[in-house]
Amino acid sequence: MIIHLRKDIDQQKVQELADAMEGIIVQNHERQLLVTSSKHKQLASEFESFVVDHFVFDTDIQMANSFYGDKKRTVQLGHIQLGGSLNNTLMMTGPCSVESEEQIIKSAELCSELGVQVLRAGCFKPRTSPYSFQGMGLEGLKLLDKMRQRYGLLIITEVRDATHVDAVIEYADIVQIGAKAMYDHGILKRCGKADKPVLLKRGFGTTLQEFVQAAEFILSGGNPNVMLCERGIRTFETKTRFTLDLCGAAYLKHNTNLPVILDPSHAMGYAYGVPDLARACLAMGVEGLLIESHPDPSVAKSDATQQLDPGQFRELYQSLKQMAGALDMDLV
Ligand code: PEP
Ligand code: MN
Repeated sequence: MIIHLRKDIDQQKVQELADAMEGIIVQNHERQLLVTSSKHKQLASEFESFVVDHFVFDTDIQMANSFYGDKKRTVQLGHIQLGGSLNNTLMMTGPCSVESEEQIIKSAELCSELGVQVLRAGCFKPRTSPYSFQGMGLEGLKLLDKMRQRYGLLIITEVRDATHVDAVIEYADIVQIGAKAMYDHGILKRCGKADKPVLLKRGFGTTLQEFVQAAEFILSGGNPNVMLCERGIRTFETKTRFTLDLCGAAYLKHNTNLPVILDPSHAMGYAYGVPDLARACLAMGVEGLLIESHPDPSVAKSDATQQLDPGQFRELYQSLKQMAGALDMDLV
Protein backbone atom coordinates (compact mmCIF):
# COMPACT_ATOMS: atom_id res chain seq x y z
CA MET A 1 0.00 0.00 0.00
CA ILE A 2 1.22 3.50 -0.75
CA ILE A 3 -0.01 6.06 1.73
CA HIS A 4 0.19 9.81 1.10
CA LEU A 5 0.60 11.37 4.51
CA ARG A 6 -0.52 14.81 5.49
CA LYS A 7 2.35 17.27 5.35
CA ASP A 8 1.73 18.76 8.78
CA ILE A 9 2.09 15.65 10.94
CA ASP A 10 5.21 15.49 13.06
CA GLN A 11 8.01 13.03 12.42
CA GLN A 12 7.39 11.09 15.59
CA LYS A 13 3.86 10.29 14.45
CA VAL A 14 5.11 9.37 10.98
CA GLN A 15 7.57 6.95 12.60
CA GLU A 16 4.79 5.44 14.75
CA LEU A 17 2.67 4.85 11.67
CA ALA A 18 5.64 3.34 9.84
CA ASP A 19 6.37 1.01 12.77
CA ALA A 20 2.74 -0.03 13.10
CA MET A 21 2.47 -0.91 9.42
CA GLU A 22 6.09 -2.07 8.96
CA GLY A 23 6.37 0.48 6.18
CA ILE A 24 9.14 2.55 4.63
CA ILE A 25 9.00 6.33 4.91
CA VAL A 26 9.75 7.88 1.53
CA GLN A 27 10.58 11.56 1.34
CA ASN A 28 10.44 13.15 -2.04
CA HIS A 29 10.15 16.72 -3.16
CA GLU A 30 6.39 16.75 -3.39
CA ARG A 31 5.12 14.67 -0.51
CA GLN A 32 5.77 12.33 2.34
CA LEU A 33 4.86 8.72 1.68
CA LEU A 34 4.62 5.56 3.65
CA VAL A 35 4.99 2.41 1.57
CA THR A 36 4.11 -0.94 3.06
CA SER A 37 3.97 -4.48 1.75
CA SER A 38 1.20 -5.02 -0.77
CA LYS A 39 -0.23 -7.53 1.71
CA HIS A 40 -1.81 -4.54 3.45
CA LYS A 41 -5.19 -4.03 1.81
CA GLN A 42 -6.93 -1.79 4.31
CA LEU A 43 -6.04 1.33 6.18
CA ALA A 44 -6.78 1.04 9.92
CA SER A 45 -9.42 3.58 10.90
CA GLU A 46 -7.20 5.16 13.60
CA PHE A 47 -4.76 6.24 10.85
CA GLU A 48 -7.29 7.87 8.59
CA SER A 49 -6.90 11.36 10.00
CA PHE A 50 -3.17 11.37 9.06
CA VAL A 51 -3.70 10.29 5.50
CA VAL A 52 -4.49 12.29 2.37
CA ASP A 53 -4.83 9.32 0.05
CA HIS A 54 -3.88 5.66 -0.18
CA PHE A 55 -3.40 3.15 -2.98
CA VAL A 56 -3.74 -0.63 -2.76
CA PHE A 57 -1.85 -3.06 -5.01
CA ASP A 58 -1.96 -6.77 -5.62
CA THR A 59 1.82 -6.96 -6.03
CA ASP A 60 4.93 -5.30 -4.58
CA ILE A 61 5.33 -3.46 -7.86
CA GLN A 62 3.90 -0.33 -6.29
CA MET A 63 5.81 2.93 -6.81
CA ALA A 64 6.70 1.74 -10.32
CA ASN A 65 3.15 0.64 -11.05
CA SER A 66 1.41 2.27 -14.03
CA PHE A 67 -1.68 2.56 -11.84
CA TYR A 68 0.22 4.81 -9.44
CA GLY A 69 0.75 8.49 -10.27
CA ASP A 70 1.25 9.40 -13.89
CA LYS A 71 0.89 6.48 -16.28
CA LYS A 72 4.46 7.24 -17.36
CA ARG A 73 6.65 9.28 -15.05
CA THR A 74 8.87 12.05 -16.37
CA VAL A 75 12.53 11.58 -15.66
CA GLN A 76 14.95 14.48 -15.67
CA LEU A 77 18.39 13.75 -17.14
CA GLY A 78 20.38 16.96 -16.90
CA HIS A 79 18.62 19.29 -19.32
CA ILE A 80 16.76 16.41 -21.04
CA GLN A 81 13.28 15.29 -20.06
CA LEU A 82 12.13 11.80 -20.89
CA GLY A 83 8.86 9.96 -20.40
CA GLY A 84 5.57 11.52 -19.37
CA SER A 85 3.55 12.50 -22.40
CA LEU A 86 6.69 13.36 -24.38
CA ASN A 87 7.02 11.16 -27.40
CA ASN A 88 10.80 11.16 -27.39
CA THR A 89 13.49 8.49 -27.51
CA LEU A 90 16.94 9.18 -26.16
CA MET A 91 20.02 7.87 -27.96
CA MET A 92 22.99 6.92 -25.81
CA THR A 93 26.13 5.62 -27.45
CA GLY A 94 29.80 5.05 -26.87
CA PRO A 95 32.21 2.22 -26.25
CA CYS A 96 31.74 -0.63 -23.82
CA SER A 97 34.75 0.63 -21.82
CA VAL A 98 36.84 3.75 -21.58
CA GLU A 99 40.22 2.49 -22.83
CA SER A 100 42.32 5.61 -23.40
CA GLU A 101 41.97 9.37 -23.79
CA GLU A 102 42.42 9.11 -27.55
CA GLN A 103 39.68 6.49 -27.85
CA ILE A 104 37.11 8.32 -25.72
CA ILE A 105 37.78 11.62 -27.53
CA LYS A 106 36.92 9.91 -30.83
CA SER A 107 33.69 8.55 -29.33
CA ALA A 108 32.77 11.95 -27.90
CA GLU A 109 33.47 13.56 -31.28
CA LEU A 110 31.14 11.10 -32.98
CA CYS A 111 28.35 12.02 -30.54
CA SER A 112 29.05 15.69 -31.04
CA GLU A 113 29.08 15.39 -34.86
CA LEU A 114 25.68 13.64 -34.91
CA GLY A 115 24.01 15.55 -32.09
CA VAL A 116 23.84 12.53 -29.76
CA GLN A 117 23.64 13.99 -26.26
CA VAL A 118 24.62 11.08 -24.03
CA LEU A 119 28.00 9.34 -24.10
CA ARG A 120 28.14 5.86 -22.57
CA ALA A 121 31.29 4.05 -21.40
CA GLY A 122 32.17 1.85 -18.45
CA CYS A 123 35.15 2.34 -16.14
CA PHE A 124 34.44 -0.45 -13.66
CA LYS A 125 33.66 -3.47 -15.83
CA PRO A 126 31.89 -6.56 -14.50
CA ARG A 127 33.86 -9.09 -16.59
CA THR A 128 33.17 -12.79 -16.74
CA SER A 129 36.89 -13.57 -16.35
CA PRO A 130 39.29 -12.06 -13.81
CA TYR A 131 41.99 -12.16 -16.51
CA SER A 132 40.10 -9.81 -18.86
CA PHE A 133 40.38 -6.01 -18.88
CA GLN A 134 38.61 -4.74 -15.76
CA GLY A 135 38.26 -1.08 -16.78
CA MET A 136 40.26 2.08 -16.11
CA GLY A 137 38.52 2.85 -12.82
CA LEU A 138 38.79 6.39 -11.45
CA GLU A 139 41.14 7.45 -14.23
CA GLY A 140 38.38 6.54 -16.71
CA LEU A 141 35.80 8.54 -14.76
CA LYS A 142 38.09 11.58 -14.97
CA LEU A 143 38.36 11.18 -18.74
CA LEU A 144 34.56 11.04 -18.98
CA ASP A 145 34.36 14.19 -16.91
CA LYS A 146 36.69 15.88 -19.41
CA MET A 147 34.41 14.79 -22.29
CA ARG A 148 31.39 16.25 -20.50
CA GLN A 149 33.17 19.56 -20.08
CA ARG A 150 34.70 19.70 -23.55
CA TYR A 151 31.71 18.50 -25.59
CA GLY A 152 28.76 19.29 -23.30
CA LEU A 153 27.69 15.64 -23.28
CA LEU A 154 25.83 13.86 -20.51
CA ILE A 155 27.71 10.84 -19.21
CA ILE A 156 26.26 7.44 -18.40
CA THR A 157 28.65 5.02 -16.72
CA GLU A 158 28.19 1.88 -14.71
CA VAL A 159 28.68 0.92 -11.10
CA ARG A 160 29.98 -2.63 -10.67
CA ASP A 161 30.06 -2.98 -6.89
CA ALA A 162 29.74 -1.05 -3.65
CA THR A 163 33.47 -0.18 -3.44
CA HIS A 164 33.17 2.73 -5.89
CA VAL A 165 29.47 3.58 -5.95
CA ASP A 166 30.09 7.06 -4.51
CA ALA A 167 32.72 7.88 -7.15
CA VAL A 168 30.40 6.81 -9.98
CA ILE A 169 27.52 8.82 -8.54
CA GLU A 170 29.81 11.85 -8.30
CA TYR A 171 31.11 11.67 -11.88
CA ALA A 172 28.07 10.35 -13.78
CA ASP A 173 25.07 12.27 -15.05
CA ILE A 174 23.23 8.95 -15.25
CA VAL A 175 24.28 6.02 -13.08
CA GLN A 176 24.05 2.66 -14.83
CA ILE A 177 23.53 -0.43 -12.70
CA GLY A 178 24.61 -3.39 -14.81
CA ALA A 179 22.87 -6.70 -15.33
CA LYS A 180 25.19 -8.49 -12.92
CA ALA A 181 24.90 -5.76 -10.29
CA MET A 182 21.10 -5.65 -10.43
CA TYR A 183 20.78 -7.80 -7.31
CA ASP A 184 23.30 -5.83 -5.26
CA HIS A 185 21.18 -4.27 -2.56
CA GLY A 186 24.06 -2.11 -1.35
CA ILE A 187 24.13 -0.44 -4.77
CA LEU A 188 20.35 -0.26 -5.09
CA LYS A 189 19.96 1.34 -1.66
CA ARG A 190 22.83 3.78 -2.20
CA CYS A 191 21.32 4.82 -5.56
CA GLY A 192 18.00 5.35 -3.78
CA LYS A 193 19.70 8.13 -1.83
CA ALA A 194 21.50 9.60 -4.86
CA ASP A 195 20.52 12.80 -6.59
CA LYS A 196 21.36 11.34 -10.01
CA PRO A 197 19.06 9.46 -12.38
CA VAL A 198 19.60 5.72 -12.55
CA LEU A 199 19.40 3.31 -15.47
CA LEU A 200 18.81 -0.15 -14.06
CA LYS A 201 19.62 -3.08 -16.33
CA ARG A 202 17.75 -6.33 -16.11
CA GLY A 203 19.77 -9.31 -14.95
CA PHE A 204 19.93 -11.96 -17.68
CA GLY A 205 18.31 -14.55 -15.44
CA THR A 206 15.80 -12.20 -13.85
CA THR A 207 12.03 -12.29 -14.11
CA LEU A 208 10.21 -9.07 -14.87
CA GLN A 209 8.76 -9.11 -11.34
CA GLU A 210 12.24 -9.35 -9.78
CA PHE A 211 13.54 -6.67 -12.12
CA VAL A 212 10.88 -4.12 -11.27
CA GLN A 213 11.13 -4.94 -7.58
CA ALA A 214 14.84 -4.11 -7.77
CA ALA A 215 13.76 -0.72 -9.15
CA GLU A 216 11.39 -0.38 -6.18
CA PHE A 217 14.44 -0.42 -3.87
CA ILE A 218 15.73 2.73 -5.59
CA LEU A 219 12.32 4.42 -5.76
CA SER A 220 11.49 3.67 -2.14
CA GLY A 221 14.88 5.08 -1.14
CA GLY A 222 13.59 8.43 -2.38
CA ASN A 223 15.06 8.64 -5.89
CA PRO A 224 12.21 9.07 -8.42
CA ASN A 225 14.46 9.16 -11.51
CA VAL A 226 14.72 5.52 -12.51
CA MET A 227 14.73 3.94 -15.98
CA LEU A 228 14.45 0.25 -16.78
CA CYS A 229 16.76 -1.27 -19.38
CA GLU A 230 16.11 -4.60 -21.08
CA ARG A 231 19.42 -5.94 -22.43
CA GLY A 232 18.70 -9.56 -23.25
CA ILE A 233 17.98 -12.62 -21.15
CA ARG A 234 19.53 -16.06 -21.27
CA THR A 235 17.54 -18.65 -23.18
CA PHE A 236 18.42 -22.03 -24.77
CA GLU A 237 19.67 -20.15 -27.86
CA THR A 238 23.44 -19.91 -28.31
CA LYS A 239 23.76 -18.36 -31.77
CA THR A 240 23.16 -14.91 -30.32
CA ARG A 241 24.70 -13.73 -27.03
CA PHE A 242 21.34 -13.29 -25.27
CA THR A 243 17.70 -12.99 -26.38
CA LEU A 244 16.27 -9.47 -26.39
CA ASP A 245 12.96 -9.75 -24.58
CA LEU A 246 10.72 -7.40 -26.54
CA CYS A 247 7.67 -9.04 -24.96
CA GLY A 248 9.18 -8.04 -21.65
CA ALA A 249 9.62 -4.49 -22.96
CA ALA A 250 5.92 -4.43 -23.90
CA TYR A 251 5.07 -5.67 -20.39
CA LEU A 252 7.20 -2.96 -18.77
CA LYS A 253 5.70 -0.25 -20.99
CA HIS A 254 2.19 -1.31 -20.11
CA ASN A 255 2.52 -2.18 -16.45
CA THR A 256 5.10 0.23 -15.06
CA ASN A 257 5.35 4.01 -14.98
CA LEU A 258 9.11 3.98 -15.60
CA PRO A 259 10.76 4.94 -18.90
CA VAL A 260 11.92 1.85 -20.78
CA ILE A 261 15.31 1.69 -22.49
CA LEU A 262 16.44 -1.05 -24.86
CA ASP A 263 20.01 -2.25 -25.37
CA PRO A 264 20.25 -4.30 -28.56
CA SER A 265 24.07 -4.48 -28.42
CA HIS A 266 24.46 -6.74 -25.39
CA ALA A 267 21.48 -8.84 -26.43
CA MET A 268 22.74 -9.57 -29.93
CA GLY A 269 26.45 -9.78 -29.17
CA TYR A 270 27.34 -9.25 -32.85
CA ALA A 271 27.47 -5.93 -34.65
CA TYR A 272 25.82 -7.31 -37.82
CA GLY A 273 22.47 -7.71 -36.02
CA VAL A 274 22.47 -4.48 -34.03
CA PRO A 275 21.08 -2.04 -36.67
CA ASP A 276 18.00 -4.15 -37.48
CA LEU A 277 17.36 -4.80 -33.81
CA ALA A 278 17.81 -1.12 -32.96
CA ARG A 279 15.14 -0.22 -35.52
CA ALA A 280 12.81 -2.83 -34.02
CA CYS A 281 13.49 -1.28 -30.60
CA LEU A 282 12.63 2.21 -31.83
CA ALA A 283 9.42 0.85 -33.35
CA MET A 284 8.47 -0.37 -29.84
CA GLY A 285 8.13 3.30 -28.89
CA VAL A 286 10.51 3.06 -25.95
CA GLU A 287 12.11 6.05 -24.24
CA GLY A 288 15.70 5.23 -25.06
CA LEU A 289 18.30 3.17 -26.87
CA LEU A 290 21.72 2.21 -25.52
CA ILE A 291 24.03 1.21 -28.35
CA GLU A 292 27.71 0.36 -28.15
CA SER A 293 30.01 1.99 -30.69
CA HIS A 294 33.80 2.16 -30.80
CA PRO A 295 36.30 4.06 -32.96
CA ASP A 296 37.83 0.69 -33.91
CA PRO A 297 35.89 -2.31 -32.57
CA SER A 298 38.59 -4.75 -33.74
CA VAL A 299 40.88 -3.54 -30.95
CA ALA A 300 38.21 -3.03 -28.27
CA LYS A 301 39.21 -4.36 -24.85
CA SER A 302 35.68 -5.56 -24.02
CA ASP A 303 32.63 -6.57 -26.07
CA ALA A 304 34.58 -6.22 -29.34
CA THR A 305 32.21 -8.27 -31.51
CA GLN A 306 29.10 -6.20 -30.83
CA GLN A 307 30.30 -2.60 -31.11
CA LEU A 308 29.46 -0.60 -34.22
CA ASP A 309 32.25 1.26 -35.95
CA PRO A 310 31.71 5.00 -36.62
CA GLY A 311 30.50 4.38 -40.18
CA GLN A 312 28.00 1.75 -39.08
CA PHE A 313 26.76 3.97 -36.26
CA ARG A 314 26.34 7.01 -38.53
CA GLU A 315 24.31 4.94 -40.99
CA LEU A 316 22.15 3.47 -38.24
CA TYR A 317 21.59 6.87 -36.65
CA GLN A 318 20.43 8.40 -39.93
CA SER A 319 17.99 5.57 -40.52
CA LEU A 320 16.65 5.86 -36.96
CA LYS A 321 16.14 9.59 -37.48
CA GLN A 322 14.14 8.89 -40.63
CA MET A 323 12.10 6.22 -38.89
CA ALA A 324 11.41 8.50 -35.93
CA GLY A 325 10.17 11.19 -38.32
CA ALA A 326 7.83 8.73 -40.05
CA LEU A 327 6.49 7.52 -36.68
CA ASP A 328 6.02 11.06 -35.38
CA MET A 329 8.57 10.42 -32.66
CA ASP A 330 11.50 12.55 -31.62
CA LEU A 331 14.94 10.95 -31.48
CA VAL A 332 16.84 13.14 -29.03
C1 PEP B 1 27.63 -2.63 -20.54
O1 PEP B 1 26.69 -1.83 -20.70
O2 PEP B 1 28.74 -2.51 -21.06
C2 PEP B 1 27.37 -3.85 -19.73
C3 PEP B 1 28.34 -4.45 -19.05
O3 PEP B 1 26.10 -4.26 -19.81
P1 PEP B 1 25.32 -5.41 -19.01
O4 PEP B 1 25.37 -5.03 -17.57
O5 PEP B 1 23.96 -5.35 -19.62
O6 PEP B 1 26.03 -6.71 -19.31
MN1 MN C 1 29.52 -3.82 -22.93
